[in-house]
Amino acid sequence: MAEIRVHQLHKAFADFTAVKDSSFTVKNGEFFCLLGPSGCGKTTTLRMIAGLELPTSGQIFLGDEDVTFKRASARDIAFVFQMFALYPHMTVRQNIAFPLVSQGLPRTEINRRVTQATATLQITALLDRSVSGLTSGDRQRVALGRAIVRQPLAFMMDEPLGALDAEFRELMCGELRALHDRLGATTVYVTHDQREAMSMADKIAIMNQGVVEQFGAPQDIYERPASVFVADFMGAPSMNFITLSAALTKGATTVKMGETSLQLPAVRDDISERPLLYGIRPEHVKLSDNAPFRAQVTGVEYLGNCQIVTLRTPAGGTLRAKLDVRVKALRDDQVGLTFDSSQVSLFDATSGRALSTARDDIAVSRSQNRGAIHG
Ligand code: ATP
Repeated sequence: MAEIRVHQLHKAFADFTAVKDSSFTVKNGEFFCLLGPSGCGKTTTLRMIAGLELPTSGQIFLGDEDVTFKRASARDIAFVFQMFALYPHMTVRQNIAFPLVSQGLPRTEINRRVTQATATLQITALLDRSVSGLTSGDRQRVALGRAIVRQPLAFMMDEPLGALDAEFRELMCGELRALHDRLGATTVYVTHDQREAMSMADKIAIMNQGVVEQFGAPQDIYERPASVFVADFMGAPSMNFITLSAALTKGATTVKMGETSLQLPAVRDDISERPLLYGIRPEHVKLSDNAPFRAQVTGVEYLGNCQIVTLRTPAGGTLRAKLDVRVKALRDDQVGLTFDSSQVSLFDATSGRALSTARDDIAVSRSQNRGAIHG
């Protein structure tokens, strides 16, 4: 297995730029997700790493080797796509063995690897079945089998679960991650589904219009989004934003908001009077009878293990709170709101970029601790 390093990768199709100066490193054995909305450049990035598309500029390293201009077949990378093209007239065994037969490996080695792969994927019982009669989940396992028998340096997966229904996708997410942990294989996984990325990835690069907006561990991205785009894309329901227009001095821990004030993590720099966005996730909004920040309950969505309460606030527009089901909230109730100030993000409303606050120190110290624990 190998580390993948992408340096200032750029791809233009005629006068349209699909990928702009992307740089990131996928460590040896890491499960890495390229995440973002449709058309943001995920597949193009993946195809360049695999050698199916030539970059306009930039470099790609597989281990120590610069493979930027190497053909796909010379890169030792295996693919799994959403539309897993199996050979319908062949059995499971023949489908999985196919890449090894093409490589001309000895029959005993082919049998050994096919047996090992099907045991890993728990489809040994299907070996002599035709693939045409299999369920979509089993077909996907066969497609994975065909990728893993090659024992490549890395796996590229482009929305491999996209064709499955929601329930089965969740199951396969768990299976894919478990498979990854067994194989220890460097994996690049493309998805537009933030839940899929959060649940599986060691690291995520979240892309927007060809640009990597943020690169990091799922928890860091979720808790410390680098931009409004990331904050909005990660999490369901997404982050609440309240527009502020205030001048903040360095170290300020409150900001005026109509008749009340909001608590902030201490700001790092003087912030002149320009629109700011105060970002708070729904799980960090609480109801409190006497709190001065007032709201009216306009909707309650019961989800079994929690409830999503929609609130109209004169001062901050519509907000959502994710609350314990035991909290009493009824449509038209007048309530007070409090926000966990240690979890607030501040953004420049014009650039959309996050501002530096005391929360960053907590995030840095937490990732240092994680580094110390996991080496
Ligand atoms: P999706 O999930 O919808 O595939 P994506 O994030 O993977 O989205 P890409 O497939 O990488 O996006 O495409 C990024 C942009 O580049 C899109 O606007 C797409 O239309 C454009 N694009 C991709 N391939 C080509 C091509 N061969 N020629 C011209 N434009 C292309």
